[in-house]
Amino acid sequence: MSSAQMTPPASPRKRVLLAAPRGYCAGVDRAVVTVEKALELYGPPVYVRKEIVHNKHVVTTLEKRGAIFVDETQQVPEGATVVFSAHGVAPVVHEEARSLGLKTIDATCPLVTKVHREAVRFATHDYDILLIGHEGHEEVVGTSGEAPEHITLVEGPDDVDHITVRDPEKVVWLSQTTLSVDETMETVRRLRERFPAMQDPPSDDICYATQNRQLAVKQMAKDCDLMIVVGSRNSSNSVRLVEVALEHGARAGHLVDYADEIDPTWLDDVEVVGVTSGASVPEVLVRGVLDFLAGRGYDEVTPVIAAEESLTFSLPNEIRRDLKARGMSDKMRHDGSFAGSLH
Ligand code: SF4
Repeated sequence: MSSAQMTPPASPRKRVLLAAPRGYCAGVDRAVVTVEKALELYGPPVYVRKEIVHNKHVVTTLEKRGAIFVDETQQVPEGATVVFSAHGVAPVVHEEARSLGLKTIDATCPLVTKVHREAVRFATHDYDILLIGHEGHEEVVGTSGEAPEHITLVEGPDDVDHITVRDPEKVVWLSQTTLSVDETMETVRRLRERFPAMQDPPSDDICYATQNRQLAVKQMAKDCDLMIVVGSRNSSNSVRLVEVALEHGARAGHLVDYADEIDPTWLDDVEVVGVTSGASVPEVLVRGVLDFLAGRGYDEVTPVIAAEESLTFSLPNEIRRDLKARGMSDKMRHDGSFAGSLH
């Protein structure tokens, strides 16, 4: 037998494709830092209406530091401080807080506020607004609350046939910020077939962070045997990333909050693992997944860069004013880091 015949078959080259951008967006960074600064300024407890962002690790870490998450404004004791989450609230929630004498800090992402303003503007001009989004999602509840008589929810392409409007010449579509770009465009296409005069939003409602994270996943999905998306189940943009990966050629895809949720059998016969994370996910959780994979031979990591991001938002005015009065910094982190350690 020749030496060539004795050469064992080459073992698969295990490697990781790491999406960029991934993780924290400007709105999440701002919302999380808002709660941290509120805890520093006013001391615990600081009440937060709903999860400040949809990430289990962020919420449990802030809870340990003294944040109390409530579902309804009425659960906040009279006169206490309450932070409104990044997803936004309906005007009625501001009224409830006023009537309870609460000190409010509004951490609504400015890109969600932009959609609220569009809804108010089109409602003032008596348009029917077709809001594409997921029923019950906090952002949709908040936006709908700006103009309930004018807004009809459209959950996807299959909803389109059942939609009725008062005047087909006076219709506009708006959307939740964290949807699948492709599915939303299909819904819009179907809506326009029914209402050819329908207006577009003045600018994209699906935010830059959602679009960029989906773009990176689209670029790498076809090369991935498995896509691991770090994110929580109630995080709309994270769930969308798994769907986008599967639609664009990844052979399998899973959503995990932590590395220890990865089932080792997912790696059977897998050469290339794609890794990304939703817009509410601190980088420490991605590091955990990369360490887990490195421990199983996936220690070659190649970034797939779809876009550069530099957008930042300043903290809510209420917090900046109080920080300034006490001579404290109002700086943001901008790097996806989060002081919460793992477990
Ligand atoms: S995902 Fe988009 S809309 Fe939501 S908080 Fe981040 S930047 Fe704002």
